[in-house]
Amino acid sequence: MGPLELALDLLAPPFCWACAGRARRGEPLCAACRGELRWRGAETVLVEGVEVWAPVAYEGPARALVRGLKFHGATGLAEPLAAQIAAAAPAGLLRPPAVLVPVPAHPRRARVRGYDQAALLAAALGRRGGLAVAGCLRRHDRGGGRQVGRTRGQRLAGLAGAIAVRPGVPAPRRAVLVDDVVTTGATVAACAGALAAAGVEEVAAVAYALTPGR
Ligand SMILES: [Zn+2]
Repeated sequence: MGPLELALDLLAPPFCWACAGRARRGEPLCAACRGELRWRGAETVLVEGVEVWAPVAYEGPARALVRGLKFHGATGLAEPLAAQIAAAAPAGLLRPPAVLVPVPAHPRRARVRGYDQAALLAAALGRRGGLAVAGCLRRHDRGGGRQVGRTRGQRLAGLAGAIAVRPGVPAPRRAVLVDDVVTTGATVAACAGALAAAGVEEVAAVAYALTPGR
């Protein structure tokens, strides 16, 4: 360890996002928590009609990382999470001519946070894999927040109306949606529907984590 790294460690010791213990610089988890990540392998799953892949199951330390990226302003987490996605992705999924399309955050939430975690993740993945990123989807403010008490059909219909392709932004032929986590798949399905309606021929999705059992 050089003197600069030593000074950095003393001033701001790197910590583990899951247990708050010490971690190695550049590693978001300590060795013990890293060992608890449940790796899913290269298999994609069909979620609401869309092929989805994620390196880890959404449980344990993976939840802590997603929460950190989403709610605690840990924009530095986008790089290591993108690295884990890129290292484990099935062959051919993240290769040109695929274009990365971030799942648009709810505009109010993105404003409060000051950033959009899916866009950060897509940018980091794009730099790694030499893939273009197209922010061609947008999400309207209406109908986003109140999901409780609505049926699944109402939620899907509401989302489908809220997500659309930005006018004037060319949609790619082959799109890979990028989000931090896929749970019900409703958002991914709404995005895929909007892209298909705009003429995109092939839509798949990657996330950092996927709800177990999928
Ligand atoms: Zn830990």
